[in-house]
Order: sequence, then structure tokens, then C-alpha cells
Amino acid sequence: KGRHKYGGIVEDCCCDYETVDRLNQEVLHPSLQELVKTPFFRYFKVKLWCDCPFWPDDGMCRLRDCSVCECPENEFPESFKSKRPFPLGLPSDDLTCQEGKPQAAVDRTLDEKTFRGWTDSDNPWTYDDETDKAEMTYVNLQLNPERYTGYTGPSARRIWDAVYSENCPKYPSEQLCQEERILYKLISGLHSSISTHIAADYLLDEATNSWGPNLTLMHDRLLRYPDRVRNLYFTLLFVLRAVTKAAAYLEQAEYDTGNPTEDLKTQSLVRQLLYNPKLQAACPLPFDEAKMWKGQRGPELKQKIQGQFRNISALMDCVGCEKCRLWGKLQVLGLGTALKILFSDNGQEQLGQALQLQRNEVIALINLLHRLSESVNLVHEMGPAVEVIIGGQ
Ligand code: FAD
Repeated sequence: KGRHKYGGIVEDCCCDYETVDRLNQEVLHPSLQELVKTPFFRYFKVKLWCDCPFWPDDGMCRLRDCSVCECPENEFPESFKSKRPFPLGLPSDDLTCQEGKPQAAVDRTLDEKTFRGWTDSDNPWTYDDETDKAEMTYVNLQLNPERYTGYTGPSARRIWDAVYSENCPKYPSEQLCQEERILYKLISGLHSSISTHIAADYLLDEATNSWGPNLTLMHDRLLRYPDRVRNLYFTLLFVLRAVTKAAAYLEQAEYDTGNPTEDLKTQSLVRQLLYNPKLQAACPLPFDEAKMWKGQRGPELKQKIQGQFRNISALMDCVGCEKCRLWGKLQVLGLGTALKILFSDNGQEQLGQALQLQRNEVIALINLLHRLSESVNLVHEMGPAVEVIIGGQ
């Protein structure tokens, strides 16, 4: 007891690190793991080829694994459509555009009409580029895992630099007010999560195409910086609070994909996540948003931070690696959705009636929560071994 490496309460939150680890392992991670596999949550609508509003395109991908391959519909495997494991029994020349890598498939077979009950609604926190419907595709997230892609160097560095220095300058924290500090922690927590997934699923040997955890990278990018780990826990709790705050809305939403059995399962998994008694008992208020935007500067500050977050969202179009862009866009949209839920102009009383979420926002929100939950799990499980092997304390 009290021996958690990071100790005490997660800063700006209401639960302690040990409780978060326990709840995450027992409740959150297992149920999210199931939820993101359902047909409703595994397809994300995205415009992959976007004009970067800041710099001309300079794709810097070294590996094939960074591309999300799009197939003409007639090349798309029947087995996938009927949801059997992919790609059993398929002649390999059916997969021509996938360069032998079915994991890279994009599903163009889904039709928006199968998602009933969802409307378009604006999100003031995100840079919305979804009007150009013709260029949007559906990506099966299960077949395009977030992992090492080889995207590195000046292009990647430029994005992170812009995100931090233009939009949420790093501490000295004394000079930042709580709201600015929270924006910084959300971005840093997301960055930590991305680094964790890169380290957990790394290309260890290009010649033999062998993948596995890279403990050195995990240590060098994350574990040797306790702040980055703390920000990861914070971001998980922030997004969890948004999901539970929107419970009434999420419970009633339509999860219809045209497969009644699967859709009922989705609905029931959503309820299990939203109303889990263990979660409610041990961490009833993961983050207290009521403390934000107080004081005279409140409204002005909110506008400023909203603008900064929109810039971050726009920067995702400049990520020069397709798969990184896919996950970058999804996760920033997920964070924008959490911000929209927590700081919706209409205030808490009206939430549930006034809140309108797009289907894609809900998919992004839940997948983001899953990414963060998995990262916390990985840190919790791999952390001690990394410290022993890499020679930390
Ligand atoms: P970077 O991770 O690029 O970090 C740059 C600088 O930011 C560091 O030097 C440090 O000063 C600071 N920093 C690092 N972490 C934190 C933190 N948690 N909090 C605060 N500051 C921090 N690569 C992949 O292989 N797969 C992916 O899926 C992938 N997705 C990406 C998505 C986005 C949106 C972006 C911008 C990049 C993505 N990348 C991905 C690239 C990856 O994030 C790194 O940029 C790349 O691996 C190079 O790493 P680096 O060691 O230079 O440090």
C-alpha cells in the first residue's frame, strides 16, 4: 500500500495511481478491449489525404507499415464482409494492392446509411474537415494497429515542436494557469501514449520482419520522465470523466450497423463501461471539470485554448505518415470530443438534452480511451521489467 512508483493522487484529478491501475486492469481495459472490436467502433471515417495548412507535404515514411492501403471495392475480400477471420482461404492475388499485407486494408464497403440516428454537429474544439465526403474512407482500425512505423526525423519533430511551442508551451508551470497546464498535460499524455504503443509494438528486425516490445525505447521516451507518465494517467482520467459525463447520451445512442446480434452486444458493452459499479465506487469523479474557467478571465481563456486546440487538430493533417496521421487524427478528435462534452457551452444541467455528438466523434472518443487505457496497462506491466533490464533504479 502507498508503494506506487508515482504515489498519491493523480495531479488535478480525484483518484490515486494505485486505484487507477487496479480499475484499469480489472474493469476498464478488458471492457474497452471488447468494445473496440465491435463493428460499430472498429470503423473510423477519415480523410487520409489532406492538404497540410502549414507546410507543403513532405511524407517521410521509411516503412511500408506506415501506409493505410486503400483497395478498390472489387478487390475487397468477401470473408471480411462476412466478418470471418481475415484472410482465410483467399487467393493471394485478391490482395494485389496490399502488397501481401492484409493488415493494411481499408474497408470501403461500409455505407453511411447503415449508421442510423446520427447527425452532423459542429465541434468548436476541432478543425473540421469532414465536409468533403467524397474523399472520406472507412478504415478498419483493428487491421491498422497503432505501432512503430519508421516515421521519424525532422518531419515528425516539426509536428511535435509546433504542437508544443505554438500551442501549449511547456512549463514553467508557475507561469501557467490551471487551464493552460491541463491542455499541456493532455497533449503530453497523448504523446506518451503514442510513444508507448510504438515501444510496445516495434520492428525489432527488419530482415526477419520480427515485431515485439522495445524496452530501451520505452525507457528512453517515457519511463525515465516521470512527468510524461503522470500526464498519461491524467489524460486517461480526463477522457474517462468525459465518457461517464456523457453516459445518458451514450447509453441512448444508436449502435446500429445492420447486424442485430453484434449491435445488441455493443449496446450492452457500452452500458457495462458506463455504469460499472466498481468504477463508480472507487473513482466516481475521475476529473472535476467544474473547477475550470472560473474567474474573470474564464471566457476569454476558454476561447484562447479552444483556438489552440483547433490548431493542434489542424496540424494532424501535416503528419507525413499515413498510419500515424490516421491515429493522430482519431486521437485528437477523441480529445476534442472529450473537451466538447466537458466544456459544452450549455453547462452541466442541460447535458443530455443539448449535447450532440457525431458518430465519428463517439468512435474516436472510445478508441482514444482504449489507447490510453492500454498504455497505462503497458506502463504498469512493463515498467518494472524495463527498470530492471535497462538499469534504472
Ligand atoms: P518524439 O516523440 O518525436 O518527441 C519530440 C520531443 O518532444 C522530445 O525530444 C521531447 O522533448 C518532447 N516529448 C517527447 N515525449 C513527450 C511527452 N510525453 N510529453 C512532453 N514532451 C515530450 N511514429 C510511429 O512509429 N508510429 C506512430 O503511430 C506514430 N504516430 C505519430 C502521430 C503523430 C501525431 C506524430 C506527430 C508523430 C507520430 N509518430 C509515430 C512519430 C513519433 O511520435 C516520434 O516523433 C518519432 O518516433 C521520433 O521520436 P523522437 O525520439 O525524436 O521523439
